[in-house]
Amino acid sequence: MLFSELGLSAELLRAVTEQGYTTPTPVQAQSIPLILEGRDVLAAAQTGTGKTAGFTLPTLQRLMASRSTAKRGKVRALFLTPTRELAAQIEECVKAYGKHLPLRSTLVFGGVGINPQIDALRRGVDILVATPGRLLDHVGQKTVDLSEVEVLVLDEADRMLDMGFVRDIRKILALLPKKRQNLLFSATFSDEIRTLANGLLDSPATVEV
Ligand code: AMP
Repeated sequence: MLFSELGLSAELLRAVTEQGYTTPTPVQAQSIPLILEGRDVLAAAQTGTGKTAGFTLPTLQRLMASRSTAKRGKVRALFLTPTRELAAQIEECVKAYGKHLPLRSTLVFGGVGINPQIDALRRGVDILVATPGRLLDHVGQKTVDLSEVEVLVLDEADRMLDMGFVRDIRKILALLPKKRQNLLFSATFSDEIRTLANGLLDSPATVEV
């Protein structure tokens, strides 16, 4: 399997090549075509499997496809993740894979000042990578608008639940448009994850590696 067989645009393939990747990992080979089709996806994938590119590359392409009709500056893809370290890693990937695309991203997480995050949100972003608690702080201050989210990614969903984020996640879900694409990535599948997935995902395709 080659990256060029997955349906990704020339700009994304160029970024992938510049990252030094030659062949897609199994989770990428399975998830990228499904996400490009617009399917909801439930993926069992550990860290180190290449899952971040597996959800980021096709999400960027989906955002480009809907860009001409989208409201400028509003968050259109929301990536939720449990820790600031993961959030920072994901946003680095978004920037690297999206380097040839006119999409903007930013990062919000707790434990640091909120004002620079407010400034970045005010300038307008297409992609927001966030930890749940700080995202709700922004919601409370009305410094973020989630009404135009087209793609929601829950990364390391099991860890988010372990860290007690389930109520925050549910509050965030209630703020999103009903019509959207949902991607849930988790290393493990407890009953709690299955309940969350059942409520969230619409006829999901499953990916297991
Ligand atoms: P992740 O599982 O998303 O945390 O990715 C693990 C590591 O694999 C990261 O350092 C990526 O840069 C790298 N990676 C992701 N996809 C590929 C690929 N197709 N070929 C080689 N390395 C990759």
